[in-house]
Amino acid sequence: MDVDIARLEAALSPYLVLITDAGIDYVSAALAKRLGRTGDEVKRNLEKVEGLTGPLPASPSSVSLASNGDGPLAFDCTTVVLPECTVVALAEEGQHQIIEYADRDTFVRMFNVSPVGYLVVDRGLVVYANEHLGSLLQMKREQVLGRRVISLVSSQSRADFVAACQEWFACEGSRQEGREIMLTASNGTRLRFAARGGWIQRASRQLLWVALEDVTRQDRLQRSLDEERQRFSDLFGSLPAGILYVDPRGRITDCNDYVAAIVGYSRERIRGSVFTDFVSDDQADILREDFRRLFTGGEEIAKRESMITTADGRQITIEYNARVISRKGHPARAIMMFTDVTDKKALEYELLEKNAEMERTLWDMAEVKDALEARAGELNKATEDLKLLNEKLNMLSITDGLTEVYNHRHFQDRLTEEVDRLGRLTDGVLSLLIMDIDDFKRFNDTYGHQCGDMVLKHIAGLLKGSIRSIDILARYGGEEFAVILPNASTEQAVVVAERICQTIRSTPFTYGQAVGAKVTMSIGVGTITSGQTDKSELVRKADNAMYAAKAKWKDRVEVWEED
Ligand code: GH3
Ligand code: MG
Ligand code: MG
Repeated sequence: MDVDIARLEAALSPYLVLITDAGIDYVSAALAKRLGRTGDEVKRNLEKVEGLTGPLPASPSSVSLASNGDGPLAFDCTTVVLPECTVVALAEEGQHQIIEYADRDTFVRMFNVSPVGYLVVDRGLVVYANEHLGSLLQMKREQVLGRRVISLVSSQSRADFVAACQEWFACEGSRQEGREIMLTASNGTRLRFAARGGWIQRASRQLLWVALEDVTRQDRLQRSLDEERQRFSDLFGSLPAGILYVDPRGRITDCNDYVAAIVGYSRERIRGSVFTDFVSDDQADILREDFRRLFTGGEEIAKRESMITTADGRQITIEYNARVISRKGHPARAIMMFTDVTDKKALEYELLEKNAEMERTLWDMAEVKDALEARAGELNKATEDLKLLNEKLNMLSITDGLTEVYNHRHFQDRLTEEVDRLGRLTDGVLSLLIMDIDDFKRFNDTYGHQCGDMVLKHIAGLLKGSIRSIDILARYGGEEFAVILPNASTEQAVVVAERICQTIRSTPFTYGQAVGAKVTMSIGVGTITSGQTDKSELVRKADNAMYAAKAKWKDRVEVWEED
């Protein structure tokens, strides 16, 4: 057991009994001696005392114990429960022996260690100061002694000190309020004291005594507490949110100005009312359930909404949070904080409406867009078809229907282009072949006109296969063809013309009654170079050359020669 028994005996009684859970643990030797018994004998006696070792309320206020010789002795009992044991202090009734130690030495020692500063002043000089005062003033006791007391008092406090001295003189220091006096420590710090004092007559002297209780810290604490309280009350009053304190019975114990402003009742009117007074019945049930859970389960309530009715009958929406404040482990009251979200709710609703409207518009727009895209597709297709049709038309307008090579008109246009191009070159050359089927009248006469047409097609096919991609083949007239050979000299043109003659000659024609019929052509070659840019000159040369070929045995190539 961690109990200093000697100190306990000095403080409580020399007759001491200690009891633990296991029973009586200790009986002081002084008690055993007083009873003239051994410690164990006393213990056994005590164990018979009803309630002494039982639970506290039953412990007796007095006991009677058998002594050896004097008969039973009565003792007062005072029970003290300590963490480690129960102490029973016994005092024998009417047997107090007092030895007075109230001498100078006792008091000087007591004053010296007292946590209150003491001063005795004789004619303005400090003739006694205790250790505690010295340490507060940060001086040695000896430095304080002999000083003028007024010099220890801070200058702004001196008038108060003088007034206090007069007051103390008048009432001899009994039952007075502590006056606030400031003393200055050796390092210049000002210390606040609650001072009490009085005057003592010693021989012919009037001695002033002053007891000084340091309240500097207390003062500072008080001030910061006041500031804190002020700050809290400012905050509580001015917070832009409603704050309510609600006790476990549902009564509002306090609220701030915001609540009053919102509901339109005074704070006094709200205090003491039940917090569900301001809401409709169905909302009240929800609130009550929330607060029941708050107080029983300690659950925090967060972001709940409720409707309250104001003094002028308006309905407003509040959003509230609440939590419980416990004192000594028990829920003492709930603090509820709320804000008015009526406007926010209205805005939210408006926003939702707007969103829905927007969504509808977007759907409409999407539909229009779909339709437009479909129309655009159709339009594109039509445009494409038109383009193809145009190309086809264009092709038809420049193509010979029977032979599917360029027609005469297109031949003329292309020849003009080529001659113009030659005109822009310094060293260019352009040749032209004009070809006429030999004895075609006879062929027609022999196999029929239709068969003749087939010959025209047959020859056009052979011609297409005999020229370069840049060469331009056209049906020049009835049974006449022409090939424009850009950038081809007379020699090169002759090679092409010879190849054509050879191909046609060696490719027999079969159609209807004409079986393996021989067809030939006479070809005239004309050439012009840069500087001679006359289209009709070129045609004339090729034409003349072709007639020259006809004049010589046909089925041959002739070049136009200058006379
Ligand atoms: P040559 O060798 O001198 O050229 O004798 P040719 O009989 O071919 O005489 P020419 O060139 O003057 O006669 C052209 C003939 O070609 C006249 C006509 O009957 C025939 N012809 C012209 N165009 C067509 C046509 O489109 N179809 C058919 N079947 N015959 C045509
Ligand atoms: Mg002809
Ligand atoms: Mg002919």
